[in-house]
Amino acid sequence: MALRSTQPSQPLPSGTDLPIPWNLRLPKPLEGDFISYLLRFSRRIILGSIVVVIFIYAGGLLTEQLISDHLLQQIWRLRLFTLIPVGAVWWLAKEDKHPRALQPAIAACCIIIAGIHDYVALYVDHPLAYTYYLVNLFAILLMATLFRISLYWAATVSAIILAMLAISLLLDERLSTSLAYTLFYFISATAILSLLGQYFFERLQRQFFLAERVLAMHRSELHSANQVLESQASEDALTGTVNRRGMEIRLGSLIHHARHNQQLDKLFILLFDIDFFKQFNDTYGHLEGDLCLKQIANVPKAMIQNDSDFVARYGGEEFLIALSGIQLNDALIFAERLRSRIEQLGVEHSGSRVNNVVTISVGISGLIPGITRADEMIKRADEALYEAKGIGRNTVVLIDAQEKLIPQ
Ligand code: GH3
Ligand code: MG
Ligand code: MG
Repeated sequence: MALRSTQPSQPLPSGTDLPIPWNLRLPKPLEGDFISYLLRFSRRIILGSIVVVIFIYAGGLLTEQLISDHLLQQIWRLRLFTLIPVGAVWWLAKEDKHPRALQPAIAACCIIIAGIHDYVALYVDHPLAYTYYLVNLFAILLMATLFRISLYWAATVSAIILAMLAISLLLDERLSTSLAYTLFYFISATAILSLLGQYFFERLQRQFFLAERVLAMHRSELHSANQVLESQASEDALTGTVNRRGMEIRLGSLIHHARHNQQLDKLFILLFDIDFFKQFNDTYGHLEGDLCLKQIANVPKAMIQNDSDFVARYGGEEFLIALSGIQLNDALIFAERLRSRIEQLGVEHSGSRVNNVVTISVGISGLIPGITRADEMIKRADEALYEAKGIGRNTVVLIDAQEKLIPQ
């Protein structure tokens, strides 16, 4: 059967096809996921950025000392205090235990930095103290362009910082009105530009986030389609057991695994064949025969417990069961239980010469020194099965390491 579809294939949507609203908000669950995505991105930046912040901080102290020792002496304690929220942000980003706390922590950190410097500008006795109002700019840029929180948070925090600045400027009696206006205009204009840049950047980030989401969806769809195809390709359509191709692969890998773990004596195969099945078809018809095959196959399928073990349809009405990690005695018990459960199913078979219900004959073989290939193992099980048929059917025969056929 050709697998190629006859329908024209639909073009796959990409993330960039999905519109981002002007206010950037995504539908509910996606919005939350985007914020987590954004903060993961910020986390990586924050750890490196803090080194830059420390350098800028040290540069500031050096400049203050060059300008005036007196100034430095008045403010170093307050300036040192700003390192506490910076350290808290660094810790939160590093630990990643409270990812949602990162955004408010950055906001609080920048408000504290701005507030402390407004205080310094307002109350420290030095003619150049007003220059500390410029640190508001630093706090806004730190939050929006370096630490990167979402636009809504950044806009709110910027508004708070600007409001604190406006109050400080109003309270500052030493500043001329023109200088106060200039400072406020300069800082707020830069804040607006920074937020505008952040708006466009966040739009792109949201688009990128959606593109990744769409790609992940396609990937998982493709993965499940592949899994379905793969299981269909190795499954027998009538009985749902593993088909011949799948059997070769799985048995090969079980043998490889047993050899690798030095458990060659713990792998067994059971080959079983329905007794007088030709007569069953002749008596009840082929369709009834198919139904019987399904019923019979379900018995060993239900008995298997180990994930790597399997039941395969070896041929028409012959099945192979692979059992790994067990002792010979358990394999024999399994075979006998299987034989008796199928007999107990009680599927009427008036054409059988051994019973009035459907029965099976079973051959068992294991790996022995010198025999490590699947086909050799099957050949030996087939010999045992042939023997089981020869001695009267509805029975189990083991072929042992010495090639002896032992009816059970
Ligand atoms: P024995 O006890 O020696 O095994 O006798 P038998 O009649 O079962 O002989 P054999 O195993 O050679 O017969 C296989 C029969 O299984 C022949 C075929 O008609 C039947 N068969 C094989 N595949 C199918 C199938 O998919 N559906 C049905 N209904 N019958 C099948
Ligand atoms: Mg048969
Ligand atoms: Mg047969």
